[in-house]
Amino acid sequence: SVKHPAGDQLPRYVRVNTLKTTVEDVVDYLKRDGFSYLGKACRLEDLSLKDRYFLSDLHLPELLVFSPKTDFHDHFLYKAGHIVLQDKASCLPAHLLSPPPGSHIIDACAAPGNKTSQLAAIMKNKGRLFAFDLDGKRLATMSTLLLRAGVTCQQLANQDFLKVDPGNPQYKDVQHILLDPSCSGSGMVCIQDNTSADQEKEQARLASLASFQLRCLNHALRFPSLKRLVYSTCSIHKQENEEVVAACLQQNPGFRLVPLLAEWPERGLEPLPQCLRASTAKTLTHGFFVALLEKHSEPGNTKQ
Ligand code: SAM
Repeated sequence: SVKHPAGDQLPRYVRVNTLKTTVEDVVDYLKRDGFSYLGKACRLEDLSLKDRYFLSDLHLPELLVFSPKTDFHDHFLYKAGHIVLQDKASCLPAHLLSPPPGSHIIDACAAPGNKTSQLAAIMKNKGRLFAFDLDGKRLATMSTLLLRAGVTCQQLANQDFLKVDPGNPQYKDVQHILLDPSCSGSGMVCIQDNTSADQEKEQARLASLASFQLRCLNHALRFPSLKRLVYSTCSIHKQENEEVVAACLQQNPGFRLVPLLAEWPERGLEPLPQCLRASTAKTLTHGFFVALLEKHSEPGNTKQ
């Protein structure tokens, strides 16, 4: 497959898996391995690196940034599960959901599980992480990935999330949900196809994806103890992003958007600037969208 040239120019991002190691240990290991560490980035422009230089990211503390051609697939740290090769934008959903250790959480469309393993790291493997995926093959890949990452708090199910019963007592303590449903993938620069001949077909595909995404969101909001939900896609289309979230908020007045990362350079399109967008041009990542919904506290309820 032919790669979009911009894809080759993006920095390579490496997430340190804190279930197995620390950022300091990974930095030391890489320095001994011939890489030169430049400390923490101050500005986005710092992330354009050459050769074997690397940095700590300015937004995400567990993220290291390398030059575009760096490849860690055969590296010991990757094979041992100490690092995860994950684009910066796709690290945002779990980072923003930030479930405390001990939480019960749902990863609704989870495979191949990079975000699941990041959630487990944030929870320090303490609590319960219910992860669903419709695709058995992808779920099998996910099992291997989670094993390598040292994740132990998960409960995987090869199941349609839309058929998971929110009233099942198993899920009564679920306060956090991560929803990263199937999308057009139009933000992935290596699969961008601008020559897409059939506009009508593409529109029909987007409409069907958006309706699936909205059904997933509405379903997720039915879990009785839910407090916070992150919705994300690797799509650049408003139809799968802001429009899905706006429709959901209209249908669920008990939820509102949380304004995210004031320092992040790219916002959701109007009228949802509380959300984040990511792109090659503005954030040096793949195209991405993230929204965080939270439940209004009930009248008379003083608890957060
Ligand atoms: N969150 C994953 C990660 O970070 O590795 C990527 C998820 S991918 C964008 C979307 C996933 O949703 C696919 O693996 C697909 O099989 C799954 N999926 C699609 N429809 C589903 C459904 N109704 N219930 C559960 N999973 C579904």
